[in-house]
Amino acid sequence: MKTKIVKVSSKTKDAKIFDEAGRLIRAGELVAFPTETVYGLGANGLDAAACRKIYEAKGRPSDNPLILHVADRAMIDMIAADVSPLAEKLIASFCPGPITIIMPKKPCVPDSVTGGLGTVGIRMPDSDVCRALIAAAGVPIAAPSANISGRPSPTTAEMVARDMDGRIPLILDAGPCEFGVESTIVACDADDKITILRPGAITREMLLEITSDVELDPAIKGTMTDSDAHPRAPGMKYRHYAPKAPLALIEPKNLTAKNVAAMLIREISAAKSQDKKIGLIVSDETTKIIEEKNIVPKEYIKSYGHQCDLKAIAANIYRLLRSFDDTDRTQLYAEATTRDGLGLAIMNRLTKSSGGNIITE
Ligand code: AMP
Ligand code: MG
Repeated sequence: MKTKIVKVSSKTKDAKIFDEAGRLIRAGELVAFPTETVYGLGANGLDAAACRKIYEAKGRPSDNPLILHVADRAMIDMIAADVSPLAEKLIASFCPGPITIIMPKKPCVPDSVTGGLGTVGIRMPDSDVCRALIAAAGVPIAAPSANISGRPSPTTAEMVARDMDGRIPLILDAGPCEFGVESTIVACDADDKITILRPGAITREMLLEITSDVELDPAIKGTMTDSDAHPRAPGMKYRHYAPKAPLALIEPKNLTAKNVAAMLIREISAAKSQDKKIGLIVSDETTKIIEEKNIVPKEYIKSYGHQCDLKAIAANIYRLLRSFDDTDRTQLYAEATTRDGLGLAIMNRLTKSSGGNIITE
C-alpha cells in the first residue's frame, strides 16, 4: 500500500483533504492524524473490522483497549451509556483538551475497541485539525498512538511515517504536537473521586481543583514499573515507549545538574569499560557540565531543555528517544525530572521506556 502524507493546517482547513480523510475512515480504512498530545492512528470507532486493522498495523495486543475521539459534547452521548455529574464537571473544565475520561459504554461500541471491558475511554481533542477530521468522518474515531506497539509515540508526521509507511493509506501532517505526551486518563470512581490511570498534561494538581479526592492508580504509583503493578486496563501492563538501545534513568535524591553529572560520569566510566557506546538525553544545565568533560561525543549528548521547563521536556522526549535508533549507541542514559505537575507524566513514560531501570545514587 502506498502511504500519502498531506500537510494540513487549522488555518487553511483544506476541505478536500478532510473530505477524503473522512471518507477513508467511513470506508473502514486507517488514517494517521495529529492531536495536541501525540499523533494518532485512527479508524471508525463503531466498526469492529476497521478497529482490528489498528491492532494489525501496530502489532498491538488485542486486550489493550483503544480511546474513542469525539468532535463535540453531543458525540459523547453516541457512545457513553451514562455521563456522571463528576464526568460532566471534568468535561466542562478540561474538554476539549488532553484528557481521556473512562465512562460506561453503549452497546454500539464494539468489544474489540474496549478489549472486552464494559467501559470506554473518551477524549475530545483540542487540535482543530483533529476535530475537523472527526467531524468530516461523522463517527467517533478510535485511535491509539500511531507507532509500532512498544515504541516511543510519534510527535511528528515523519515519526509516524517511520513506523506506518506502507501500512496505511494516509497521514495528515500538521507539524509537531504541542504537548508530546499522551492524554491524562481518568476514571470517576465515586461521586467525588477521580483515579488517574495514566498521567498527562492535565495534571494531578489541576484535577485537585475539581475534587479533593484524586488518587493515582497503583500501576503508576511509586517507581511506576510494570512488575509491582496490578493494572486496571490491560494496556497499562505492557512495556512501552522504548528506544532500541537500553535506557537507564539517572535520578539523584537531590535533582541538581551537578548531582546528575556526577552520577553520569561514574556510570559512563563503568559502561565504557564494557565497550558500551553512550548516548545521553539530559537537561541544558547537565549538557554544559558533561560537554566540558569530553567523555561523550557532543553529537550524542542531546538536551531536552531547561530542567524547569517541563512543557519543553515533554514535547521533546519521544523525538529524542527515537533519535538514537539510527546510531551505533548501545547504552542510553536520561536525566530524571521532578514528579510534580507535568513531571509525573514525563517520569511515567521515561520509567516505562527504561523498563524500570532507575539509578538513584
Ligand atoms: P494508547 O495506546 O497510547 O492510545 O493508550 C490507550 C490506553 O488507554 C490503553 O493502553 C489503556 O490503558 C487506556 N484505556 C483505554 N480504554 C480504557 C478503558 N475503558 N478503561 C481503562 N483504560 C483504558
Ligand atoms: Mg501508545
